[in-house]
Amino acid sequence: MTATPDVLADTGGDGAIGSRLAGAGLVRDLQRIVPMGVATDVPLRRISRWRIGGPADVLVRPHSVDDIARLRRFLHRRGIAHVVIGSTSNLLFDDAGLRAVCIQIGAPLAYAAITGTRVTAGSGVWVPCLARRVMQAGLSGIAHVCGIPGTLGGLVCMNGGSQRQCIGTVVDSVTSVAVTGEVHRRPGRACGFGYRQSVFQDNGEVIAEVVLELGVAADRAALRREMLQILASRRRKFPQKQPNCGSVFKSNPALYDKFGPPGAVIETLGFKGRSIGGARVSETHANFIVNEGDATARDVLRLIQEIHRAVLAHTAHAMDVEVRFVRQDGHVGTPLDMKLPLPISL
Ligand SMILES: Cc1cc2nc3c(=O)[nH]c(=O)nc-3n(C[C@H](O)[C@H](O)[C@H](O)COP(=O)(O)OP(=O)(O)OC[C@H]3O[C@@H](n4cnc5c(N)ncnc54)[C@H](O)[C@@H]3O)c2cc1C
Repeated sequence: MTATPDVLADTGGDGAIGSRLAGAGLVRDLQRIVPMGVATDVPLRRISRWRIGGPADVLVRPHSVDDIARLRRFLHRRGIAHVVIGSTSNLLFDDAGLRAVCIQIGAPLAYAAITGTRVTAGSGVWVPCLARRVMQAGLSGIAHVCGIPGTLGGLVCMNGGSQRQCIGTVVDSVTSVAVTGEVHRRPGRACGFGYRQSVFQDNGEVIAEVVLELGVAADRAALRREMLQILASRRRKFPQKQPNCGSVFKSNPALYDKFGPPGAVIETLGFKGRSIGGARVSETHANFIVNEGDATARDVLRLIQEIHRAVLAHTAHAMDVEVRFVRQDGHVGTPLDMKLPLPISL
């Protein structure tokens, strides 16, 4: 999700802080807009879920919808590219890091208010916490997200979910901030929700607040048991210890009907345990790629592209990738678009 492609238009760093993208002047301007919310030269491998990525020149953590709006207006006027991230559970960052301004939505926007069956929540709220609160309030409809590590903004952008459900079905409205800084409120039906799809993946808007319309749970204890079962099953099925970004490839009904889910297809083709550099196809679940400690983005991209090619050759189905790649210029897209040099062995 980028504002403009001419990332480097405003460079001219002084070699001290955020030197590649931002001169001290830009950092001071950002600090005026979001006091106490700007960091420079942040190693993405330290903050990203996959523990991969070079340094982000400038990272801003807004505290309110107003902060986001002022920030976007400023960056738009100056023509400076920026990218929005949540908790990075679905993102692979470039080994070269990030030359665009990185806006991270998190704890400062992590509020939630429940009135009757309506939940109004900030996009920074941690999804498993929200699912638990909703259950405790006796409401049903989001039990399936109780084990999904991420922010509500990231979940809505990805239309994530589990148990063959998606968050979009219970979204009443979304407040978002356009690239120019205008604030919009969109009803759920106008959010373009499809399987792991939403308008926010393409329109560049930052999700600031989400209203969910939920049901009343017939049996709160049963709902709690259901959530505990979901969590236990995820612990059994998914790798727990090594950094990963969840399912790499999206499920596809046509592929599923003929060959099974992506994990089963990848396993059948012998990829379980296959590694490139420090990236390995998980032994626990073949649709997960784990970082064994020193994986680079390039290792992961190679593995993704190799699996994609093999599945296409074997099944004639081109799998979509769920994980999104953040290029150093701030462009967020599919890892399949990245052109990689051929491996030396070929
Ligand atoms: C162990 C593990 C298990 C997982 N299991 C599941 C699962 O069962 N189901 C599932 O759907 N996903 C799953 N995921 C993937 C991931 O957790 C979800 O996609 C999650 O919703 C991403 O949230 P995030 O805050 O980390 O977003 P990020 O990964 O930071 O961002 C994801 C996308 O959303 C955009 N984005 C983030 N915040 C905002 C915002 N406020 N406004 C606009 N755009 C925004 C980003 O630009 C990016 O394109 C799993 C991941 C892991 C690591």
